[in-house]
Amino acid sequence: MFLKRIELQGFKSFADKTVLQFDQGVTGIVGPNGCGKSNINDAIRWVLGEQSTKSLRSGSAMSDIIFSGSEVRKPVNLASVSLVFDNTNRVFTTDFDEVEITRVIRRNKDAQYLINRTPCRLKDVTDLVMDTGLGRDSLSIITQGNISSFADARPEERRSLFEEAAGVAKYKKRKKTSLAKLEQTQANLDRLQDILDELERQLGPLEKQAEKARRYITLRDELAAIEITVLADEIGTLKDQVDALERDIEQSRQEENRLGSEITLQESRIESLRQETAALDVRILEVQKQYAASLQERVGLEKRKAQLDEQRRRLMESGSDEDRRQQLQALVQDARMEYEDRLDRLNGLEKQRHQKEADLLAVQKEQERWMQKTAGIRNRLQDLQRRQDTIQAMIRQPYAHQQGVNAVMKARQSLQGIEGTAAGLLHPCQGMGAAVNAALGGAVFNIITDDEASARQAIRFLKQNRSGRATFLPMSVCRPRYPGKDQETIAASAPGAVGWASDLVTCDARYESVRDRLLGNIFVCDTLEHANETARRLKYKIKIVTRDGDIVHTGGSMTGGSQKQGSSLLTLQDESRNLEQKIQEAESQADSCAGNLEPLRRQEQTL
Ligand code: ATP
Repeated sequence: MFLKRIELQGFKSFADKTVLQFDQGVTGIVGPNGCGKSNINDAIRWVLGEQSTKSLRSGSAMSDIIFSGSEVRKPVNLASVSLVFDNTNRVFTTDFDEVEITRVIRRNKDAQYLINRTPCRLKDVTDLVMDTGLGRDSLSIITQGNISSFADARPEERRSLFEEAAGVAKYKKRKKTSLAKLEQTQANLDRLQDILDELERQLGPLEKQAEKARRYITLRDELAAIEITVLADEIGTLKDQVDALERDIEQSRQEENRLGSEITLQESRIESLRQETAALDVRILEVQKQYAASLQERVGLEKRKAQLDEQRRRLMESGSDEDRRQQLQALVQDARMEYEDRLDRLNGLEKQRHQKEADLLAVQKEQERWMQKTAGIRNRLQDLQRRQDTIQAMIRQPYAHQQGVNAVMKARQSLQGIEGTAAGLLHPCQGMGAAVNAALGGAVFNIITDDEASARQAIRFLKQNRSGRATFLPMSVCRPRYPGKDQETIAASAPGAVGWASDLVTCDARYESVRDRLLGNIFVCDTLEHANETARRLKYKIKIVTRDGDIVHTGGSMTGGSQKQGSSLLTLQDESRNLEQKIQEAESQADSCAGNLEPLRRQEQTL
């Protein structure tokens, strides 16, 4: 190690900045007594961390080492000393080629340390110099007093001095520190052993407690499962009640609608009756007029008869027989003419009566015909309505015959990740219910779940409650199935081609992978003949279904027949839509019949 330079300012006798440059070889500092040679020694030890004012030969406070003034110079307030070492051989564990250690002190303030002008702690300085043998108490610095103490020392004291000089003392100190640490560690180990012993004593009761805790967890899980089952049951019951109430509300709504239209009908009847009454009043007025005219005519005729009787009596009493005969003949002539006139009028009225009677009969017949037609339509309407009610009931309980599916769907609120059934999530286009139902086959009742964990939870639920079985399709592992390019081309040009089943349903975007998995490679044709032909062209490698729900399976086997056996939500919804359309048609037919009947009734009354 090589000390290149010492820079002092304000330290003891060095009031001004003094730089002592050391070159290679030995440097001696020469001067008279008291000129400050030893102060340089003190400065070096001060920088290296000396804390004893006594060994620094100073006053009681550390700030006493600051230049305290002389006869010709005022005191200063700051003392600073820097030692600059050469570190090209990396004796210090730092990458700099030069290491500068500085200590600074101001009056009434603590000292400051700097390494290469960066503030640091005393410990940093001590750590830096410790491994170099430059420690505060090392023999790198030997003062005047040391020399005489070496000479006077006993052999064993000298040994320690030599050890210090040889650097053994450093290791001895470390050994001492390590032994102290070992002792501390042993004490810690003893303490740990005590704790272990104590814990072992507690192990027995703790194991019992753990067993109790395990049993508690098992029972708690069982309780939770039972509670879920009870809740699922309750939810099912409540849902049934809600369904029943909704049905009641729907029925009430229908009844309200029916009564509303009945009221409208009755009101229009009242209106037409009112009009009829007005017409009848007019008619009565006319008849009354006719009656009054007839009465007047009768009075006139009676008068005329009286006149004629009077004329006849006077003729009988006066004149010749010839005159009387002529007079009587003239009377008879008048009477005959009058009689013939009346007879003509009577015949005319008779004819009118016959005509009206014929008209009345015709109107009654027409009325009868329309009534029969209306009754027929009403009967048909009732049949359609009954079928619609049955279908609606089946739609409300779509999984009634699938015990497992039913149980899971009822408890879906208390289970996780249950999306619904394939039949509930895929919606066929108009008229494609039977085809899509056949295309899905058994998968129509597949329960779609978010992932496999959800499916496992639902299966556990079915097992625990002995509620049957169900098939689950987790979306996380659902891979779509598509036909090959050649198959697409052949199918598109086949006779009676309708399309790929996956294109004939709509669904939420998140279920598209499910749709394409279940329907992506199934083709739909219009008739079974065309399905056979298409299957042949596709070498029986693609499943083909018809609009009616007949199937040509891969390999060529065929399934078909009555649809009722295989009815599902899909076919039921299709049928319900058809029925709704037919019901509306029948209702409008019934309305138009009623519209035709009404004028006929009025005509009948008038006739
Ligand atoms: P010797 O050969 O007798 O040992 P020396 O050359 O080693 O003497 P030092 O003992 O280093 O001299 O210096 C002592 C001198 O330093 C004294 O004159 C003293 O007045 C001066 N001195 C010590 N402390 C201070 C201080 N705080 N302010 C001013 N001068 C100081």
